[in-house]
Amino acid sequence: MHPVAISRSGNIEQDITKALDEIGGLETVISKGDIVLCKPNVQGSFSPGSGIITDAKVVHVIVKMVKKLGAIPVIGESSVHGRVTEECLHASGMYEVAKKESVKIVDFDKDEVVRVPITKGTVLKEVRTVKTVVESDVIIDIPVMKTHVATGVTLALKNMKGVLPRREKAKVHFAGLEEGIADLNATFTPDIVIADGIVGLEGLGPSRGTPVEMGLIVAGFEPVTVDSVCTEIMGMDPNEIKHLEYAYSKGLGEIDIDNMELYGAPIDTVKRTFKEPWLQLKEFKGIELINGNACSGCLTELLRNLEYAKIDGRLDDLKNSTFYIGPDVQFNEKCKKNVLVGNCCKKLAEFGIFIEGCPPPGYVIREKIDEARRVLKTKS
Ligand code: SF4
Repeated sequence: MHPVAISRSGNIEQDITKALDEIGGLETVISKGDIVLCKPNVQGSFSPGSGIITDAKVVHVIVKMVKKLGAIPVIGESSVHGRVTEECLHASGMYEVAKKESVKIVDFDKDEVVRVPITKGTVLKEVRTVKTVVESDVIIDIPVMKTHVATGVTLALKNMKGVLPRREKAKVHFAGLEEGIADLNATFTPDIVIADGIVGLEGLGPSRGTPVEMGLIVAGFEPVTVDSVCTEIMGMDPNEIKHLEYAYSKGLGEIDIDNMELYGAPIDTVKRTFKEPWLQLKEFKGIELINGNACSGCLTELLRNLEYAKIDGRLDDLKNSTFYIGPDVQFNEKCKKNVLVGNCCKKLAEFGIFIEGCPPPGYVIREKIDEARRVLKTKS
């Protein structure tokens, strides 16, 4: 089976309605009186249409549809660690949607924390989530179509990391990000996915890339199925996205397009190859990056600042230097010009220039890169 629909008409409401009708309708998973968690991606403080967060217009249409079925929609999110979720939800326009439709909106960082065992988890055994998540009868996963420096893409599977409040998200990174995402989805499995591909993001995603006008809605019941279709649309191979493979092996949908029931616009007619984030890593010639499963907060800020340094011609002074990042980072004793990024690398602080923070703010990374240029320039 594995139905999935792609819709592109230029009208968001029409596209969501059409895509849902083609796969069997919201009523397939929602009954009257159900509490329905609508989980957008509001990872940071960005405006609708930026391609970085789910467009509030998409969430608005879904909320209205859930109400029409006699169910109770609740919008909920925890933004990336280091951001204030309430501010992010305000900037995204989600509070306006909640107000207009008189529905509840929950900042998971302020919600009651609940411990949940991860059944058959490969790397996670237990996580702390919140009351709103465990009390919901149905989860509608509403990701936005983006590339991601650490995981290749961030779509429905990755969006579920937002059910973990505050620093709990870091636990997934410590455990092993890609397998952790699959583990999370096996316990907090979305009942339906409605992916916002109106404006996506390519390049240095999830937050520092370039917006891409796509005008698409992609809907299906399984996160792996929808993510695989979106990944194909973005010009990448789903089999090369590790968390998609892990989630597929846990039975969370189909990864092979040939085994799906595809409705609406054919993939080839809407395909647009997204610039992959890891291509940019190779562009910093003479600099080595040792990444031990870093969070996107650390990684994107570092890459963004290295990019600025490159554009300004400040990168030459950092030739032959090594940047370390992430909780599982391994130190290379042969490297003499070291920059340690984020609190995860504090244990290595004595071996080079340490950049404090979890994640360190962009301006601190910039200052420290300049300090590293001065200090490391003369070092052999
Ligand atoms: S220091 Fe960076 S990589 Fe480590 S937990 Fe914090 S944000 Fe994640």
